[in-house]
Amino acid sequence: MIETAWPYLGAAAAIGASCRWNWWRPIVEGGMPALMYHKVGDPPEPTQLAKLWVSASEFKWQMRYLLRYGYAPVLFKDLEEAALGGKRLPPRPVLITFDDGYANNYEVAFPIMQELGVKGNIFLVYETIGVHNAWHDPASEPWIRMLTWEQCFEMRDSGLVEFGSHTMKHRNLPAVNLDEAKWEMTESKRRLEEKLGVPMRGFAYPYGAGAYVPSIRQAAREAGYRYDFGIRQGISAWPWDADKHGPIKRLFIRGDDTRFDFHLNLTRGKARF
Ligand SMILES: [Zn+2]
Repeated sequence: MIETAWPYLGAAAAIGASCRWNWWRPIVEGGMPALMYHKVGDPPEPTQLAKLWVSASEFKWQMRYLLRYGYAPVLFKDLEEAALGGKRLPPRPVLITFDDGYANNYEVAFPIMQELGVKGNIFLVYETIGVHNAWHDPASEPWIRMLTWEQCFEMRDSGLVEFGSHTMKHRNLPAVNLDEAKWEMTESKRRLEEKLGVPMRGFAYPYGAGAYVPSIRQAAREAGYRYDFGIRQGISAWPWDADKHGPIKRLFIRGDDTRFDFHLNLTRGKARF
């Protein structure tokens, strides 16, 4: 009786794994995986957004995974140089992106990136630099410190980090009037470039909102951003065509991901349902 149950248990396990993970999806060849991180380190208690925190040890494991499998983390400027016909990209380029610009990106992630020689891109919210994540309701999500200008300067000078814009105030762009949305995009670009002395090539829509709203996306393009990022899950084609392919998709790296999830994200463009 027990022996005959084994095939059924195996089938049940396979169905269970199929419902939870995307291991059976075809492997995505080529393309430009863009990993989306938020906070690196241990979450303060209590938080309802624990999934946005990736521990230092997992982050390090993930960076090592990339290097072990021949991925080459690149900056927006590397993409631009390649698109303009200059330097060629390495064979397996990958973008590491951090949304919001938390101080833990410098305190926890940056030392790991320095140790391993890994490059990454951070989207800053201009008005929160040196302060805290004021767009969150502190009743549901504790405020934490954002990067300071000094930390930004040091990372910029390391050559390992490029910055992009994540607006002035982290507002939901389609929810404000179009003039305000345009101001969020153009003013943050202007001020970040002025302060950091480097071009803002990348832009990430707060909450991913507006990425697929034609008037908002057009405004992002008109503001002068070359690469715009939503939060839609997947791996965008490379070479990437802004008109043909839409906003660059990303792989949401969650704090409660397993290492198998990470592997599936990179290879299938999706880990779980
Ligand atoms: Zn954000």
